[in-house]
Amino acid sequence: MNVTPVPDLPEIREGDDLAALIDERADLDSADVVCVASTVVSKAEGRAHDLDAFPAGPRATEIADRLAEITGEEKDPRFAQAVLEESTDLLIEAPFLLTETRFGHVGVNAGIDRSNVPGSDILLLPKRPDESARRLHDALSVPVIVTDTCGRPFRHGQRGVAIGKAGLPASHDWRGEHDRDGRELGVTVESIVDELAAAANLVLGEGSGGEPVAVVREFELDGFAGSDELFRDVETDFVRQALREWSYA
Ligand code: GDP
Ligand code: MN
Ligand code: MN
Ligand code: MN
Repeated sequence: MNVTPVPDLPEIREGDDLAALIDERADLDSADVVCVASTVVSKAEGRAHDLDAFPAGPRATEIADRLAEITGEEKDPRFAQAVLEESTDLLIEAPFLLTETRFGHVGVNAGIDRSNVPGSDILLLPKRPDESARRLHDALSVPVIVTDTCGRPFRHGQRGVAIGKAGLPASHDWRGEHDRDGRELGVTVESIVDELAAAANLVLGEGSGGEPVAVVREFELDGFAGSDELFRDVETDFVRQALREWSYA
């Protein structure tokens, strides 16, 4: 397989037809997978805002004050307000905000970005990345993954993950297949979309590179059968349940 950035995309603005911009620059084959950084999906969908749009309520002010006290850095309560408005669940309040977004993704600061947002203070994640991916998929007729760079527990460093997808399964369910000893695999469900998102993120970069879209070519999707879910249910997410028992002293 190979992963290639789509060249010469402009700075994306609200209302831009992202599918058309991609289609004009990428000679897509029906076997390709298109990976799009959430940053440009958000910009096209008008998700860039100034902090003034988020007047802080008492809860946001309380959170920001506590964070400032713990970290010794100034924290804008309007930013905490934006995070709260994007979230349905607050998993960690300090020393950073970890929340579940309205579409089910768990991330630091609800995935709100302050980089690569010219002219605005913050960029919210797309409202429903699965639907964003679906629209791109309908227009481009190839599988589409919406990616974001995301931190992870237990390990240093960040990497690309899929926050939305359309036209391909989320995972490859290996259960029932066999290892080289003939032993049946009992638990392995491989997150194909996260792995493709990570590969794409590797060529997109994080800075001023200007390459928000990558095409994955010659990756064999046929034969994958797996779950379509990206996010765990709370009931089966034991790490998350453990977080509930814990609070930063
Ligand atoms: P995120 O991972 O979704 O938060 O996206 P990043 O901010 O890491 O950006 C990924 C890539 O897209 C980087 O190469 C950026 O320079 C590039 N990028 C971000 N916004 C734009 C844009 O509006 N136009 C173009 N051409 N590139 C962009
Ligand atoms: Mn970014
Ligand atoms: Mn981001
Ligand atoms: Mn990134």
